Amino acid sequence: MPEDAKFKCLRCGNEFQMPFDAEKEPQERACPKCKSNSVRRVKPAVQK
Ligand SMILES: [Zn+2]
Repeated sequence: MPEDAKFKCLRCGNEFQMPFDAEKEPQERACPKCKSNSVRRVKPAVQK
């Protein structure tokens, strides 16, 4: 079941949400703002 995950563009710093399906990873993603594919997933701060 895909869930929304947070991503951050390493180029322009834009943060956005996209559906994340672990079964379909790795997927190519592009920043909606600058179209860069230097996009990294921002993991929710769960561990402390
Ligand atoms: Zn960007």
